[in-house]
Amino acid sequence: MNKPFYYFGWPDPIRGDLLYGDPKWGIKYHDPGWANGMTYHRFSRNCSLNPDHTDYKRSSPLAITLASLKIGDIMWCGDCIVTDRVKDIFVRERFTGVKFEEVIIGKVKRMPKEPVELPRLWELVVIGSGGEAHPASGIKVYEKCPECGFERHSSFRNGLIVEENNWDGSDFFYLKGYPTFILVTERVKDVIVSNKITNCGIFAVESVRWASGVRPEDLVPSDGIAES
Ligand SMILES: [Zn+2]
Repeated sequence: MNKPFYYFGWPDPIRGDLLYGDPKWGIKYHDPGWANGMTYHRFSRNCSLNPDHTDYKRSSPLAITLASLKIGDIMWCGDCIVTDRVKDIFVRERFTGVKFEEVIIGKVKRMPKEPVELPRLWELVVIGSGGEAHPASGIKVYEKCPECGFERHSSFRNGLIVEENNWDGSDFFYLKGYPTFILVTERVKDVIVSNKITNCGIFAVESVRWASGVRPEDLVPSDGIAES
């Protein structure tokens, strides 16, 4: 029997079978956006076979604009942000595969009239690795450059299934080719549920659905549209 793993993300039932989380949190809490000047920087691999083989790195530290101070325990802006309370819980639990970097709050759009202290917020940075997904997920490496090693991974067909032999044992991790899908262990799931942490969703990895109509492996790789 495989260990259970979970996808930790925005509580949207379209993304899979929601085990924990309330889609109405999207109305109750206001998620932030990137502050002006935040961007992805492109780094060329100087590949002689294909100059489109590049890597991207986001500006750091993460700077955000808050819509208001009505925030949940977790915030999503493409990146994952947590409050001081959540960071303290995760640190106390000694979760592995994760580190916290202080977020800069550039602006609050709707600031209350009375003076308030701004919250201290942290970017949840995942450093654990699940390696290549289990083949049962349907994920394949459909392009691999013999010169620079650049790879493209296909969409998944049967959820984000973890191959335990490829996983580094971290509580928080990404599968190769899926650097936006935060996966967690059962212990993380239980701590999130028992602490009633808001504005996040927990899904069984097997239930995660490919929500976009476009599958990267169906695009012609040389047209420059394919995303890794
Ligand atoms: Zn290359």
